[in-house]
Amino acid sequence: MKVMKFGGTSVGSVNSILSVKQIVEAVEEPVIVVVSALGGITDKLINTSQMAAKGDAAYEKEYREIVNRHIEMVYTVIPAGDARTVLLDKVNELLSELKDIFQGIYLIKDLSSKTSATIVSYGERLSSIIVASLIKGAVWYDSRNFIKTEKKHAKHILDSELTTRLVKETFRELPEVALVPGFISTDKNSGEVTNLGRGGSDYTASVIAAALNADSLEIWTDVDGFMTADPRVISTAYTINELSYVEAMELCNFGAKVVYPPTIYPVCHKNIPILIKNTFNPQGEGTIIKQEVNSGSKAIKGISSINDTSLITVTGLGMVGVIGVNFRIFKALAQNGISVFMVSQASSENSTSIGVRNQDAALACEVLNEEFSKEIEMGEISPVVAEMNLATIAIVGENMKHTPGIAGKLFGTLGRNGISVIACAQGASETNISFVVESKSLRKSLNVIHDSFFLSEYQVLNLFICGTGTVGGSLIEQIRCQQQRLMQERGLKLKVVA
Ligand code: ASP
Ligand code: MG
Repeated sequence: MKVMKFGGTSVGSVNSILSVKQIVEAVEEPVIVVVSALGGITDKLINTSQMAAKGDAAYEKEYREIVNRHIEMVYTVIPAGDARTVLLDKVNELLSELKDIFQGIYLIKDLSSKTSATIVSYGERLSSIIVASLIKGAVWYDSRNFIKTEKKHAKHILDSELTTRLVKETFRELPEVALVPGFISTDKNSGEVTNLGRGGSDYTASVIAAALNADSLEIWTDVDGFMTADPRVISTAYTINELSYVEAMELCNFGAKVVYPPTIYPVCHKNIPILIKNTFNPQGEGTIIKQEVNSGSKAIKGISSINDTSLITVTGLGMVGVIGVNFRIFKALAQNGISVFMVSQASSENSTSIGVRNQDAALACEVLNEEFSKEIEMGEISPVVAEMNLATIAIVGENMKHTPGIAGKLFGTLGRNGISVIACAQGASETNISFVVESKSLRKSLNVIHDSFFLSEYQVLNLFICGTGTVGGSLIEQIRCQQQRLMQERGLKLKVVA
């Protein structure tokens, strides 16, 4: 059996939802289908509840739009008849519950996180019953009964042991098609509705696939798979057909929004392959993620980045040789639920830099200043401040392990292009080199790195002749810039000019 997950855009329009029907009905083995809310609905549910909480009566218009999206979808994709009547009854019942909740919020002008979680759950509850009625022979299951969370550090975390047991019990006998709402869950103690975080439907699918030892997990989305870089920035980026679990984890943790990062682990642990496919281009090869991959000749597999970076540096001569400074840094951050995505410490031990999201920066400084207040007072450690408006870039690939000179090539490329690196980190696993630059250098950095690692000599020549590069200005100017840059970077001597 396999598990297939269809994201918001896949179930978001009439055409795409009909493709989903076609894709699933063509499967010749038992399948569990996990769906997200119709594209854009989760955001709209959150928005509407915030408007209602502020006492903005325009929330009603937003609510109406939510109603219309679902009702129109039912009328367009489900033929008139008993099935449609039954479905409409259920959809209307859910929508009227939602209306009452919004009205309650509007009246008391208060929105708790518990109520918020209940509200967003309607997105997947609605989409899943619509898709269940659309696909021939599909049986609907309520994931709130078997996806269980517990509260840790003010966050709802999956209870994977309990969930695995409940999933096994629920699916002891499999129908041809089981239809499951993604994202939503319940607290294992209170039974309150919770969820697995934004983008969490992928995780629902992965957890089910792992619990049932599925043959594969398919994630159907609106792109062809993982790409060598963000195609909105790099016009020459292309789909990567094979990735190892480690490479996928490195890439998705970091910018590439193809899958929700926690998704990889449960299936990786069971050695279940993940296939990323495009609902809008089902013939496309997609990306397969598995243990052993054909690593190819390229030194790196992909480049990922996030613009949202603050760098916090704990520094002071009083840190040198003192045991436990890093322990205290990470303990203080962890106790406050702050996630650190990059760490860099010089061997002199007099500074540790950590990369966090901008929204966490103020709190991180506050808790670190408190943790080290004595040392700061004594002048052993400087007051902790955050550098904002930075971006983190990572180059990823298991081939780096066997190829010397990758870091040299990377930093050489950046240096020749006048880009200054503020901090960098490479784990001993050698599958990722991450570095921090100013936000304003992000685009340029991605461009020069991508050209340097991924363009073939043929593409360079083509770029030179056709001027399809990404540098602004007139075509002639573009060609000239690209020519200079590329030739300088690759030490190329172009003899052929068209
Ligand atoms: N509907 C949820 C979201 O938008 C979960 C998901 O789509 O995976 O975040
Ligand atoms: Mg998603």
